[in-house]
Amino acid sequence: MNNILHQIPQELREKMIVMPSHPRRFPPYRVHWNWDISFKCNYACSYCEVIKRDEEFSYQPIEIAQWRDIWAGIFERYWSTHIRFSGGEPTIYPGFFDLVAMLLEKNTVDITTNMSFDLKSFLDVIPPNRGLSISASFHPEFGDFTTVFDKVKYLHRHGFPATISYVGYPAHLDRIYEYKKIVEAEHMYFKIIPFSGLLNGHRYPDAYSPAEKILLEGIARDSIDQHLSDMNSRWYDWRVKKNDDNPSSKIKTGNLCRMGEMYAKIHPDGSVTRCCAGHHGIDAGVLGNITDPAFRLLDEAQPCQVAYQCPCFKCMTVGQEEEIWVPLWESLEHPVYKTEFARECACRYADASGKPVAVTQGND
Ligand code: SF4
Ligand code: SF4
Repeated sequence: MNNILHQIPQELREKMIVMPSHPRRFPPYRVHWNWDISFKCNYACSYCEVIKRDEEFSYQPIEIAQWRDIWAGIFERYWSTHIRFSGGEPTIYPGFFDLVAMLLEKNTVDITTNMSFDLKSFLDVIPPNRGLSISASFHPEFGDFTTVFDKVKYLHRHGFPATISYVGYPAHLDRIYEYKKIVEAEHMYFKIIPFSGLLNGHRYPDAYSPAEKILLEGIARDSIDQHLSDMNSRWYDWRVKKNDDNPSSKIKTGNLCRMGEMYAKIHPDGSVTRCCAGHHGIDAGVLGNITDPAFRLLDEAQPCQVAYQCPCFKCMTVGQEEEIWVPLWESLEHPVYKTEFARECACRYADASGKPVAVTQGND
């Protein structure tokens, strides 16, 4: 085996030597967290299903010092991970930028945001080119496109790779093509999120008209490059097309899945479920609470317990598409804790079938 660790400068090797006690042995080799840190938002988009759920969770914001301890424990067990914030609007969480700056010391981070935050406060605290990406979403009921896009462009050009997403809400489809062209002219990704929810008594995405489906599918498949076309198409197919063609093909009950091992969802009260199905883990399986020092991810794939349609177009069913899980679950590289090192460490602690072998801390 090509031991890449021997190619790393000594100073870096000393950092690398902190091996995870529970190494991740499968693509994408680093745990991906989706952290709904709060369902509160400073906007109230008419199509938002999320902010209605805020009252389901009882929680108090946690101080940065406590989050530092919690994430130090995660690093010790699982090494560098990728943390994708969503919500709600995560940037209104108290001390949010300090929290992100702390997490970036050892992890990569992505923030899904409506871009309403103060740019100077952000730039004062968060360093560029340290593994933070921005998933901006443009919500036409609460902002004008040029203002939002100028801010996103600035960040994109100054060390914070950014994309823009747009909800395919029926009332907002008239300018979707125009927005896509403007964003793609800057060589940035324009992501389309099919609307899921109730409008005028109709349940979407099933209620899209044939013309709306043609528009959304055409835009999804005609994206700036092949990778984005693939991602937008998968999302469209999963949310809209498969519902039309074969809804039962999305039911995965009993299939072995690596969600919960390579991925987990953190809810506003800190509870962690293996995937996005259900909430409070009733359907998806509660793994514990992120604030609990004894918290552990699954160490093996487990059968899917969810009785209804799987919500994830990137779900990690064992034996299906494993060869593309790395690009499918793409994230920025951390400047120190690179994925190639994680892959190398993982291989060193697994036999040919992927089963764990005895771990000796610091054994290089
Ligand atoms: S910005 Fe996002 S979270 Fe906030 S109300 Fe709109 S859709 Fe909901
Ligand atoms: S619902 Fe989907 S992502 Fe969740 S455990 Fe089942 S197959 Fe995996």
